[in-house]
Amino acid sequence: MPPEPFFSGAGLDRADLLRSQPDKIAELARRADALQLRWADGMPLLGPDGTLTWEKVTEPTLFLGLDGQSPRFSPLPDSAPAPTAFAMLAQLDVGEAPLFACALSLANWHRRHGRCSLCGEATQVVRGGWSRRCGSCGGEHFPRSDPVVIMLAEHDGRLLLGRQPHYPPGRFSALAGFVEPGETIEAAVARELKEEAGIDVADVRYVASQPWPFPSSLMIGCRARALDDRLTIDFTELDDARWFTREEVAAAVAGDANAPFLTPPPWAIARTLLDDWLA
Ligand SMILES: [Zn+2]
Repeated sequence: MPPEPFFSGAGLDRADLLRSQPDKIAELARRADALQLRWADGMPLLGPDGTLTWEKVTEPTLFLGLDGQSPRFSPLPDSAPAPTAFAMLAQLDVGEAPLFACALSLANWHRRHGRCSLCGEATQVVRGGWSRRCGSCGGEHFPRSDPVVIMLAEHDGRLLLGRQPHYPPGRFSALAGFVEPGETIEAAVARELKEEAGIDVADVRYVASQPWPFPSSLMIGCRARALDDRLTIDFTELDDARWFTREEVAAAVAGDANAPFLTPPPWAIARTLLDDWLA
């Protein structure tokens, strides 16, 4: 079974063909079964059961897609999420997570891309919210996801995990970094492990991916084989990095009070990678 990170799943039917038909989208927004997403403090508003909440359509700026035959829209939220907003993921219903990630990532992109990157003029939302067009130079700009590699390095049955300075006490997780222009996924994994931990790796293998809407990344989970276990830690990036045995990782994943570290939370793909490695 391939691992299933949080935020995985189909979400809505994105109905891509309708995006280029503004009349059709306007007609869908007037339908009795059309709904728009509710927001609070820059985040989709959750109900007491952790599901998304909806209301009658008043501002159909973003066409999120079809739930069965029923159209789903969203206004653009007034504000950005608070820096600590991702803590609310503990409340989010797992089945609603893909649509939550889609709406939040798209809204984050619009908030950060109000002006044309070619000429600097203000741009307008088009294609049901799936692009912005510049009325001045005609440039069209599409929502983007920034690729991030996140990886476990393995050596002789042990895993390399690191601590970033902002982690809660005791937590260790997979190392990660943005894929740079001109790099393959494999090259980015090898470079990040060399930069942050001073190790050379081979046999980089893709495991799973995850959309991460803070603000708009695509996490690409990988595994790699370390050629050596001598670490040279970059202390400007990490507080610490260590090798952990299978027993130590299993104890941490099981939540054992005597485990040598705390795992990342269940909605992080790093946790999925640990579960996959143990399996
Ligand atoms: Zn322009």
